[in-house]
Amino acid sequence: MYNVMSPKAEEFISHEEVLASLAYAQEHKNDRELIDEILAKARERKGLSHREAAVLLDCELEDKNQEIYALAEQIKKDFYGNRIVMFAPLYLSNYCINGCEYCPYHLKNKHIARKKLTQEEIVKEVTALQDMGHKRLALEAGEDPINNPIEYILECIKTIYGIKHKNGAIRRVNVNIAATTIENYRKLKEAGIGTYILFQETYHKESYEKLHPTGPKHDYAYHTEAMDRAMDGGIDDVGLGVLFGLNNYQYDFTGILMHAEHLEAYKGVGPHTISVPRLRRADDIDPDVFDNGISDEIFAKIVACIRIAVPYTGMIVSTRESQACREKVLHLGISQISGASKTSVGGYAQPEPEEENSAQFDVSDNRTLDEVVKWLMEMDYVPSFCTACYREGRTGDRFMTLLKSGQIVNCCHPNALMTLKEYLEDYASEQTRTVGDKLIEKELNVITNPKVKEKVIDYLANIHKGERDFRF
Ligand code: SF4
Ligand code: SF4
Repeated sequence: MYNVMSPKAEEFISHEEVLASLAYAQEHKNDRELIDEILAKARERKGLSHREAAVLLDCELEDKNQEIYALAEQIKKDFYGNRIVMFAPLYLSNYCINGCEYCPYHLKNKHIARKKLTQEEIVKEVTALQDMGHKRLALEAGEDPINNPIEYILECIKTIYGIKHKNGAIRRVNVNIAATTIENYRKLKEAGIGTYILFQETYHKESYEKLHPTGPKHDYAYHTEAMDRAMDGGIDDVGLGVLFGLNNYQYDFTGILMHAEHLEAYKGVGPHTISVPRLRRADDIDPDVFDNGISDEIFAKIVACIRIAVPYTGMIVSTRESQACREKVLHLGISQISGASKTSVGGYAQPEPEEENSAQFDVSDNRTLDEVVKWLMEMDYVPSFCTACYREGRTGDRFMTLLKSGQIVNCCHPNALMTLKEYLEDYASEQTRTVGDKLIEKELNVITNPKVKEKVIDYLANIHKGERDFRF
């Protein structure tokens, strides 16, 4: 029985409710009157229910689809302006005891090099990441209580926050590790993590169990209820995601929105971010079984519909996607992207020798961070290295209240300009710096409050003189 307030995975992601929603969406996919009603509701920018969003996802009416894209773009502009937050993944260890059939780190894969970074290696990797200009990391590790116990993850976080190289600093560490206990989530919170990220992979229980035949991840309920435990452990920024291409995309789209509704209703705070990874080619993964069944068009439609359905949730796209695809979805709702990523364990400080391949998947966008930053600015986006909210204690419901009242914009834009300025001063090529300084000049006009603008101009001058870490 469907119950958004239930603590049980099978009730807040009720299979029957998903199927009923998919049937409803199919029945109404070309119902102009209903689609107009849903779009009118979406224009209020308060979001949509999973069922309403499912109708938009299935809609085949060309003119209405164009309206959906235009609205997604407008909502993106209203909530996030032209800022794109930058981050990089850091793989700590690819030891894993799970049997996930789509991931090369699964236990039975004997061709892949197994690695785990030592604290000394982490210092080297993070120094290399700082030297590129990164301020925000997403830590990744396989599930292995012997090789990657919580103590190891905590030690890595402590090491990372302690590394200060030249003007570099990692100011926010997000963590993507296996579902765990409330006690361990509490330890992660105490270690000062930003967002706890856990991908559901698929919400379809039967497919989930088949795709995860062995290991602790096989337990669908334990995995799906992890975000509730994370919140019980004090973590109030959580990041959801599904791996599109594993299962029927409409099912997972509906599931992820139901999960967001559950967190908002049951815990009082919706997800901080939603990631939209698609399956990629990888070692020991049969391309005939996992063929990335989602076209670029459907992928773009999913992004647009999520943007409309949960306007307050940041959306992340990784370097799994090509430059062309990233360019398309940036307009439609993506607010965070990774740049210059390595999906191997190590590889930032020194490229990994080919015979030692430890990568989780192939990267489609191989550009340097400097190239990505310049590319964004040439499209009039402001790359932002901001981490202010978490450091000012603006997380969870405090963050959501500011966001929903529209006040967050007064922080985001100035912070984006100041962190971009830091990047330009410390890490950019001359060409990128020239493009960036012009962009900052122009973007200062977006700040309407004269006092804030004056302060920002002052801070920018101080950054040029060598001072760092100003924030609103
Ligand atoms: Fe391990 Fe995660 Fe890969 Fe599964 S997806 S095999 S849990 S690293
Ligand atoms: Fe994100 Fe807060 Fe910075 Fe805005 S001010 S970009 S919401 S960290």
